[in-house]
Amino acid sequence: MTPFDRADPAPPATGCADTPPVLRERGQHAVFCGLTGIIWLHRKMRDAFFLIVGSRTCAHLMQSAAGVMIFAEPRFATAILEEQDLAGLADANDELDRVVDRLLARRPDVKTLFLVGSCPSEVIKIDLARAAQRLSRRHLPTTRVLAYSGSGIETTFTEGEDACLASLVPEMPATKAGSLLVIGSLPDMVEDQFARLFAAMGLEDTAFLPAREAFALPAVGPGTRVLMAQPFLAATAKALEDRGAVVLSAPYPFGAEGTEAWLRAGAEALGVSPDHITAAIAPGKARAAKALASAREKLAGRSVFFFPDSQLEIPLARFLAREMGMRLIEVGTPYLHRRHMAAEMALLPDGVTLSEGQDVDRQLDRARAARPDLTVCGLGLANPLEAEGLATKWSIELVFSPIHGFEHAADLAELFTRPLTRRALLAHAQDQSTRGPEPCASS
Ligand code: SF4
Repeated sequence: MTPFDRADPAPPATGCADTPPVLRERGQHAVFCGLTGIIWLHRKMRDAFFLIVGSRTCAHLMQSAAGVMIFAEPRFATAILEEQDLAGLADANDELDRVVDRLLARRPDVKTLFLVGSCPSEVIKIDLARAAQRLSRRHLPTTRVLAYSGSGIETTFTEGEDACLASLVPEMPATKAGSLLVIGSLPDMVEDQFARLFAAMGLEDTAFLPAREAFALPAVGPGTRVLMAQPFLAATAKALEDRGAVVLSAPYPFGAEGTEAWLRAGAEALGVSPDHITAAIAPGKARAAKALASAREKLAGRSVFFFPDSQLEIPLARFLAREMGMRLIEVGTPYLHRRHMAAEMALLPDGVTLSEGQDVDRQLDRARAARPDLTVCGLGLANPLEAEGLATKWSIELVFSPIHGFEHAADLAELFTRPLTRRALLAHAQDQSTRGPEPCASS
């Protein structure tokens, strides 16, 4: 029996090792699958191509989520498994080899080809890892072929990026040199801002995974210190640790406070003095503090409820509580990796309800009862909750918007103020329409 049984809606389960207590949910999920990560990964890695081995459903998901223009030459596609493949009547491997050969002949610019597994490819057990090895032998040194799973079975959508980056780690060259490696897909301008800040601290060789050119992989070894820019990269971090790297514990670079702590953790691990770090970050920190002031006026004292969706929930909740003065009702996360979240959990306010996993109906009941000022949730829940009068924020938008670092702290805050402003305007308009036209002033 799960610790929070369906028949007993009473208090959250707690464990003595939990700080703060964590409510564990094991019910129905309502999340996108890991294929979704291709939407931002294909933009980041300009020499990569993502070939989904899946069904028409997978193709439709990608088509509608990414909104690809028909004349564009996209860097992802779906190799559709037809009924005869699913029934085991055709050799899917032969067909896959033909599709890859045709694709690479037509697209010599592709230097890394990812074969992306899906629910259908896993159900019929196509061994994409072996297919990637076979195809790599055929197409290297021009194109490297790798495989990972974007399947939607018991996953959440950010796991696609984790699986993709983890597939790159065995390909990274070895080094003994001491260096800093930032992991997590960042918009180019954010990556440039972080690279400039680390360079100002004397860390000119800071590397990023994924890099813009996926073929040119950074080196890794016992001297590598890994700074996670996204909290959902447990498999990638583990693969890097297996290569000898050390993953640093730090809050994530959201808001002025998180960004400062994150930069300090990376720079101190490479021996930069605290004074040097303070001098390098001072201008950006001051700009962020100034830019955040007006958002704080709009958000302070308002309540927020996070449904589990992106795995960004805990760092974002910490930012909203500590820097924006918001009140956390519940912070749900699909998975709670305690080691990678330790620095964040230490900063959460006392008494916050954390929940791990999903039981969407029960979480909806709690959100409806609490009537938060703002609900952060997946696309599927947002419209019904809006119809019930709750202001919502789509969590997926937070994954591919530039929200990291000092320069985007205010953009991050604005993503939360916007739904409240929109709802206030709607309420005002409704109020006006029920009252009818203003009476004419008597002459
Ligand atoms: S991978 Fe699975 S969940 Fe994702 S679109 Fe394909 S069938 Fe649906």
